[in-house]
Amino acid sequence: MIPAPFEYSRPASVDEALALLERHGDSAAILAGGHSLIPMMKLRFAAPEQIVDIRALSEWRAISVNPDAVRVGALATQADIINSDPLAAACPLLRETALQIADPQVRALGTVGGNAANGDPGNDMPAVLMALDAEYELTGKGGKRSVPAREFYLGPFETARKPGEILSAIVIHPAPDGAGAAYVKQKRKVGDYATAAAAVVVEMKKGKCVRAAAALTNAGPAPMLIPEAAAALEGTPLGDDDIARAAAAAESAADPASDERGPAAFRRKLAGVMTRRALQLARQRAAA
Ligand code: FAD
Repeated sequence: MIPAPFEYSRPASVDEALALLERHGDSAAILAGGHSLIPMMKLRFAAPEQIVDIRALSEWRAISVNPDAVRVGALATQADIINSDPLAAACPLLRETALQIADPQVRALGTVGGNAANGDPGNDMPAVLMALDAEYELTGKGGKRSVPAREFYLGPFETARKPGEILSAIVIHPAPDGAGAAYVKQKRKVGDYATAAAAVVVEMKKGKCVRAAAALTNAGPAPMLIPEAAAALEGTPLGDDDIARAAAAAESAADPASDERGPAAFRRKLAGVMTRRALQLARQRAAA
């Protein structure tokens, strides 16, 4: 289908972008890679009157890796993430996730900020960023503020981003030695969204799990952190029984709808299976 009519601007500066968003209010939409927004416009699920294309704000595409924090500009594409060796060394989970998103064409344009800000429970980055306890930097007229990824997702396509704000960067604190992480996704075919997927991080010290996190993609109306799964793991040696308990907690917390990817009961079961497989992989990586 053809989108509804719209005006297009490509601001050259952050101030100009913020002024446009303020002037057009709810009728404006931010465009980054366009690989979620444009399909939504073509289907007429979105009909913004003003597109604010932020791709000229190249300072928001940088990736910087420091010992205590990794900062990924919101305009970094999934391909930029895959191609950054320093990022992959500091936070391998991001490359592992980006490689499972769509196909090379989509990854060449789709941005990490668009994936995170979209609020679609089917996007892969949100669960991963929740498991990593990332912080989202939001830039607005009043300056910058930071929101934990774990507090950002409020419902389907509903986030803590305020009108007029732009997600400008994602900040991640690299996991300490003894940590392992994994993202495991089941999809029907290459390029598909997840039928269900799980992101996990475990931190081991002296044979015990001292910190764990698990989050699910496409297992409910919004990306979901599963604290019950973390609670089932912390303080344990991460044995098979402990992992099975965490996977059962994820399965029981999952609340997917029936859709073209399968009936709800199958997708709920799969959320548990993905959590179990991700934890087995993360345990192996933590031990390596
Ligand atoms: P856009 O489409 O430009 O924007 C998406 C939304 O976020 C819009 O509402 C926009 O206003 C808002 N937005 C964008 N940037 C910002 C910002 N910096 N601050 C605030 N709001 C912002 N995604 C997956 O995760 N997994 C998949 O398997 C997958 N498969 C796909 C397959 C196909 C064929 C296609 C076309 C897309 C697929 N996608 C998938 C979506 C793709 O990853 C998108 O690129 C991504 O979801 C959105 O990023 P974008 O940069 O394209 O954002």
